[in-house]
Amino acid sequence: MHVIKELTWLRPLSDKLEQQLQLNRLHHALLFDATEGVGKYEFAKSLANRLLCNQAIDGQACGQCKSCHLFNNGSHPDYLEFADDTANSIGVEQIRAIVNKAQQKSQQGGALVFVIKNCEKMTDSAANALLKTLEEPNPHTYLLLTTSAISHLLPTILSRCQLHRVNSPTEIQLNEWVARQGIEQSDFLVAYQDSGHAPLKASALLADNYIEKRTNYLSQFKQLLAGRISAFDFFADFQESELNHYYIWLMQALNQWLSVKSKQADQSVDKSAQLVKISSLYQAVQHNYANVNLNGINKKLNYQQLCHKIEAILQE
Ligand SMILES: [Zn+2]
Repeated sequence: MHVIKELTWLRPLSDKLEQQLQLNRLHHALLFDATEGVGKYEFAKSLANRLLCNQAIDGQACGQCKSCHLFNNGSHPDYLEFADDTANSIGVEQIRAIVNKAQQKSQQGGALVFVIKNCEKMTDSAANALLKTLEEPNPHTYLLLTTSAISHLLPTILSRCQLHRVNSPTEIQLNEWVARQGIEQSDFLVAYQDSGHAPLKASALLADNYIEKRTNYLSQFKQLLAGRISAFDFFADFQESELNHYYIWLMQALNQWLSVKSKQADQSVDKSAQLVKISSLYQAVQHNYANVNLNGINKKLNYQQLCHKIEAILQE
């Protein structure tokens, strides 16, 4: 994808950095900070491509030269990135690979570029190993770091990088982007909200049948609430990769139920009892959700226990 054409909200930052590059003033260590799913990694990668390109056009990589071909094939010898979303940490071994490469000459005669995605995942020793390279790299060497958790970064890293805040799209930019993608607006809004306003994440969710999964799950949950299926049946379709969504959907459904119920005019004892019940359900979900990321927790078991707890509360 042509990142800047696609993700139009990245254009101002791209123009600014291009201007600095033209004036030979581009900082060698750039840190891109943004909320998740806005496109900062895609941006860093497209900047890397541009820095390596032999004949950039209008501040963008040409896509045609030898360097661009190597880059697009993922085999550019002067480019190295760490972008494993599933890794819990970036260790000192990985950073040493960057440090060693940064000491060598570029093989294609141009720049040397490194991208570290989610750089807050660097262990302290990894971060320390990077300091010298961050501080005084060889000429034409660039380190592009991205993060969504800037407060987790060591001050020594922060102080050596030039920080750029990557803007989220405006409503107009977002709507245009959604239309260009051919995504249904209403579907997008659901995924967008559930992904914490991360457009790229929302679009990836939709490509993975998010709406269908959500609808099925909520209809099963309604069946559980109505006592038409058991906690056992409700749990049967469990998929660990969807676990975070389950919790979000449950809290949304309960919140909505609570809001509908509390607006109802009747003042009966029955209504208050139901409000108490819904609140208990919500608290149970919240409690298990809070435990999900604790070390050593069995996530599946934790969720399974929640399903049975919900059933027990309903039967009280
Ligand atoms: Zn090129």
